[in-house]
Amino acid sequence: MPLAQRLSNVETSAIRELFKLLGKPGIISFAGGFPDSALFDVPGIQAAVNAALAQNPGAALQYGATEGHPPLREQLATFMQSKGVQGVSPDQLIVTTGSQQALDLLGKTLVDPGSKAIVEGPTFLATIQCFRLYGADLVSAPIDGQGVDVDRLEQLIAEHKPRFVYLIPTFGNPSGALLSLERRKRVLELAVRTQTLIIEDDPYGDLYFDAPPPPSLLALSHEVPGSRDWLVHCGSLSKVLSPGLRVGWMVAPPDLLGKATMCKQFSDAHTSTFAQATAAQYLAGGHMPATLARVRQVYGQRAGVMVDALRRELGDAIDFVAPQGGLFVWARLTGAGGKLADGAALAQRAIEQGVAFVPGAPFFCANPDPSTLRLSFATVGEDKIREGIARLAQALG
Ligand code: PMP
Repeated sequence: MPLAQRLSNVETSAIRELFKLLGKPGIISFAGGFPDSALFDVPGIQAAVNAALAQNPGAALQYGATEGHPPLREQLATFMQSKGVQGVSPDQLIVTTGSQQALDLLGKTLVDPGSKAIVEGPTFLATIQCFRLYGADLVSAPIDGQGVDVDRLEQLIAEHKPRFVYLIPTFGNPSGALLSLERRKRVLELAVRTQTLIIEDDPYGDLYFDAPPPPSLLALSHEVPGSRDWLVHCGSLSKVLSPGLRVGWMVAPPDLLGKATMCKQFSDAHTSTFAQATAAQYLAGGHMPATLARVRQVYGQRAGVMVDALRRELGDAIDFVAPQGGLFVWARLTGAGGKLADGAALAQRAIEQGVAFVPGAPFFCANPDPSTLRLSFATVGEDKIREGIARLAQALG
């Protein structure tokens, strides 16, 4: 069957292949990128569903506006305001079907075949695939524990003149990295100076463990004159409330937001009104602060257990920056003591020992670092984390 040319730019992810092996009984999996379903606030969501159906069943069950359910747009503007975002009114955001759809709409509206775009190395795999599907020529900007290397980013922008730069500044997937305040300001200044659009993808910012992270680029944008004109911000309720709701949102300059809304019309008409009405009632009902407190506490605890176990069991064979939030430990095998230094080879051996994780190489759009790996602590209880890391040490030999 003749298929669209654009499909030749992408392939099924290596990670999906690995997931097929996870059905093995007794396996401890650090491979997922999911929140823990045991933490879903079922009573709170139940109450929100009931309220949505009791108060305005027509709106919750009927077709709705492509831009989003008005009460949810209002609640999301208020939610962002509570995190220091100034001057974003409900009409400056649209609701999307997960933030994944925001990324797809950005691919549709910004990418021509051969368009250059800069992403972090490593970055979210589905973003690489999504932008490539539209023909993007991706350039990789290196990161460290403090997020993207802004000096290097500046050089890459000058060299490639990209359509946009895609960043996950807060507890990145897979890197867990946290972009420092100083670098955040420099990124915004760079956007204005070079007139380069920055896409801030921020599904993890609420999942901090001890101290809140620096403000999002969107929240900081009022300190850097002109930067709002060069900034897109994508948010999501997936990691804090429920990914099954498929509720995300996007803030963007008006022209771009209008074009993205037009593309959304042809795509899914609108995000499920039922899910949106539920999310709006959930936020209006004041459930979010307690939910956030709970998930932060549990993930923080699990992250701490994993970090300690890695240091204890793997010692200098592994190198990583302890995450301050999010769902992931991003690590590098050092090869110390002649131990294995290849993430993909270790992943195979680890499965045999009954533990799974994702090798890091597929998360790079270029120059993959084969010694890297991503471990998620989010869905595994503390004892199982200790046991899983002990198995990993066994696999490493
Ligand atoms: N961006 C990043 C960085 C992610 O890790 C994810 C989910 N894994 C998404 C976007 C998409 O999330 P959703 O569509 O559920 O909002």
